[in-house]
Amino acid sequence: MDLVVSRPEGLYCPQGDFYIDPWRKVDRAIITHAHADHARVGHNHYLCAAPGEGVLRTRLGNISLDTLPYGASTTHKGVKISLHPAGHVLGSCQIRLEYQGEVWVASGDYKVAPDLTCDAFEPVRCNTFITESTFGLPIYRWRSDAEIYAEINAWWAANAAEGKASVLYGYSFGKAQRILAGVDPSIGPIVCHSACEGLNKAYREAGVKLPDTATVSEVLDKSVFKNCLAIAPPAAQGAAWMKRFGNAYSDAFASGWMQLRGGRRRRNVDRGFVMSDHADWPGLMRAIGATGAEQVIVTHGYVPVMVRWLQEQGLSARAFETEYGGEGEGEADSKADEKAASTDVVE
Ligand SMILES: [Zn+2]
Ligand SMILES: [Zn+2]
Repeated sequence: MDLVVSRPEGLYCPQGDFYIDPWRKVDRAIITHAHADHARVGHNHYLCAAPGEGVLRTRLGNISLDTLPYGASTTHKGVKISLHPAGHVLGSCQIRLEYQGEVWVASGDYKVAPDLTCDAFEPVRCNTFITESTFGLPIYRWRSDAEIYAEINAWWAANAAEGKASVLYGYSFGKAQRILAGVDPSIGPIVCHSACEGLNKAYREAGVKLPDTATVSEVLDKSVFKNCLAIAPPAAQGAAWMKRFGNAYSDAFASGWMQLRGGRRRRNVDRGFVMSDHADWPGLMRAIGATGAEQVIVTHGYVPVMVRWLQEQGLSARAFETEYGGEGEGEADSKADEKAASTDVVE
């Protein structure tokens, strides 16, 4: 019995007549998290995890939205629905569906390592697990956040000592707040691009502790631009927003893709910090194993590699064609990154 099937509109539960993260307009949508490839405008009715309400409304505006606390359940047309932390970004959830004793879990995007800005990933037992595979190659292994924050702080402190701003590119929802939550604000002032600032506000309102930040237009004392940490989405690179930092700044990019050889050079930045909001290879293995699922369906990322690997482990594995992988670090930034990734595996 399939509790989730693939339809042109998105992943669909026929028994409950609703969709999971649909990419076309539908009547009822359950949303795993507020990244744009999973949460789109135009559905008649939305359901998300309670901690994700603020960020979802920040991104989608005035929508018809119900929320469920993590672990609570609701029943719709006989399908019991509950939402469980996915550890990806604030409010991200795995969707657990139960119908006549059969249990399926759709993960959305997830990571298993702890994150200061969201609830920790919760393993959920199921018959079928629908998983992402964004970093589903054995080369992807993340270090601890403590090590990454120490690297970022050292880079910022060294630049500040030389009278240079430290411009750090990271996606405006999720990555920006995770960086903020762990850096050392005693090094200097922190400036954020306005694209990040609205989401910072939603995080703070949800109770996530972030240091004080200001947008560039709020900065009256221009000497701030000589020693600040400035956090901006990748699109700000080379844009007018950069002008206030003059020519004497250092820049860096924070993404799982920075693990690729040449990733930093292709991004044309001084530094690359390997920080991802997705599970690395061991994390994917651990998460999939903990579900106890006999069937695994892979939605996006390195799909054929993951499907073949799971089949070799004796599991029933297949893929769903989806339109996920478009926002945040959801997909390699270019064909060159993809190519470099597969080359790195071979070597
Ligand atoms: Zn995501
Ligand atoms: Zn995604």
